[in-house]
Amino acid sequence: MADGDSTRSVRAGRPAAEQHAPELPGPTFAAHYHLAGEATGPYTYGRDANPTWTLLEDAISELEGGGATTVFPSGMAAVSAALFSLVASGDTVVMPDDCYQTTRALRERLESYGVHVRTAPTAGDAQLDVLDGARLVWLETPSNPGLDVCDIKRIAAAAHEAGALVAVDNTLATPLGQRVLDLGADLAVASDTKSLTGHGDLLLGHVTTRDAALAQAVRTWRKTVGAIPGPMEAWLAHRSLATLALRLDRQTANALALATALREHPLVSGLRYPGLPDDPAHAVAAAQMRRFGCVVSFTLPSQAAAERFLAASRLVTEATSFGSVHSSAERRARWGGDAVPPGFIRFSCGVEDTADLVADVLQALDAAR
Ligand SMILES: *Cc1c(COP(=O)(O)O)cnc(C)c1O
Repeated sequence: MADGDSTRSVRAGRPAAEQHAPELPGPTFAAHYHLAGEATGPYTYGRDANPTWTLLEDAISELEGGGATTVFPSGMAAVSAALFSLVASGDTVVMPDDCYQTTRALRERLESYGVHVRTAPTAGDAQLDVLDGARLVWLETPSNPGLDVCDIKRIAAAAHEAGALVAVDNTLATPLGQRVLDLGADLAVASDTKSLTGHGDLLLGHVTTRDAALAQAVRTWRKTVGAIPGPMEAWLAHRSLATLALRLDRQTANALALATALREHPLVSGLRYPGLPDDPAHAVAAAQMRRFGCVVSFTLPSQAAAERFLAASRLVTEATSFGSVHSSAERRARWGGDAVPPGFIRFSCGVEDTADLVADVLQALDAAR
């Protein structure tokens, strides 16, 4: 019988037991390693490889269900590595028009290099209609912040048929929420700043692929642009992985309880959570996801109501980002750039006791009236 997710989380990437050695070796701080004679690996220079990265990369690969992982100092460094290492001038990239806004901001940069960019919404697998001649198809599901979902298996099959590679930004779900490589993606990409590390205390990202040539391209990109994570962040991330399944289980339970409590609330409209049985994304999400994530989104009647709600909560920090053990929320429109109403709230459920969190949100909604 295969190990369960919590067993896999606590064991992932941990080296074999060695007498008098710690379970997880501490971070290696090194710009260079002793290297006499010929320049042979694995560890030569600090920009190329680091043993602390290696342990974390092995751990993430295990959770992704196999493949080779390259870690980066942020999610955007990972997104950029996947995009820029695999496309060249004249290629076509297909992107969602509702994905993470900084990913969308790369469009201009790609176009300035002579890459053609086509976009289509995540919902309804709309990217199927614009695959023709593409080199790379970018998916983000569930999408941030709108929480629409697309069918990875279906789009990957069509994209491969059309000769395109498929990358999925799996930030929201994490590999314990959905295994995008098993669903047919060529690359799993994520901001590990969010749910994967889950404490709101570091930035990190990764790219995992089972294709050796793609892995080499991504790794060479990291080395040549120098987008390398700090050993301390990599070590903290690995330490945090041990509780991944525990955290996600509580966060997912909190998200479902919160979404359920908000369903009939008079102040709430546009409620979205892919785990809600009547959510428009639920059928596709249920077929490909094992956990529906910690993010719930909804709209309050106005900017003022949203601000009153955020100010009145005791347990919810007003902050951007998501996935932390502490619940947080924000009025997303304050940033501009997303097609959301002024009262739109992106809510990230932490690991607080479910009853406490739901009660706090309901009292904050009362105060927002
Ligand atoms: C946050 C986020 C990113 C970028 O990650 P950083 O770690 O902030 O650079 C990319 N994609 C999605 C879906 C995100 O939520």
